[in-house]
Amino acid sequence: MGSPVSVTVANLVMEDIEDKDISTYPSPPPFWKRFVDDIITALPKVSVQPFFKPSKFYRGDHQLELRARPASSSKVMMKPKATVVLPYIKNVSECIKRILLPLDIRTCFKPHTTLRQLLVHPKDPIPVESQTGVIYQVSCGTCHISYIGQTGRIITHRLKERKQALTSPYHFSAVAEHAMKESHVIDWKSGKVIDICHQLYPRCYLESWYIKTKGSKINRDEGLLPQVYGSLVKHINKKTK
Ligand SMILES: [Zn+2]
Repeated sequence: MGSPVSVTVANLVMEDIEDKDISTYPSPPPFWKRFVDDIITALPKVSVQPFFKPSKFYRGDHQLELRARPASSSKVMMKPKATVVLPYIKNVSECIKRILLPLDIRTCFKPHTTLRQLLVHPKDPIPVESQTGVIYQVSCGTCHISYIGQTGRIITHRLKERKQALTSPYHFSAVAEHAMKESHVIDWKSGKVIDICHQLYPRCYLESWYIKTKGSKINRDEGLLPQVYGSLVKHINKKTK
């Protein structure tokens, strides 16, 4: 195959062989598509073995031998048990795909942000600080560990309640407890929204996800996230260290 015309000549020879061999075969396949040495065709199960028997061709003084074999089992595309479509999240999606692959579950990803979301804005966007249903983070100004919480209201109202808990016996808060127990000062200005989710249960799961992956030490517990996410959390924490 050293000459530049070798590929073309080889292709012409193959086309000639295919034309004659397939048209004279007792039950020719309904289609035959070839790209270089990869062929796709369809045959009834009983015709597979006879069809793949070695064929011999003569062209002038030359004898050509064509041997065909079925694709190895590793190359045969098996239909997966199930397909799941998930929003793409960098680092998390690749991990989920690897976990589901041995279970014969195919994973497809869709973009988290669509072009429509980016380009169509019929209303002015609401600033995150004024949005309801948020997961927020606030840090201790003395030891810099943080607290992660969720609220169905806006972050400002929730942080105000947390502040009141420092002086009021009617409000209970892990943040206030940390400040009083350690004699630390909470940096209320560090309070920020880290995610938005309007449904209660998904918001609680997200809160728990951030507590586990951001290592929020002021929280009393790690929230509702099921144990099944344990290895994923472990993988993310290992990657972000
Ligand atoms: Zn502290």
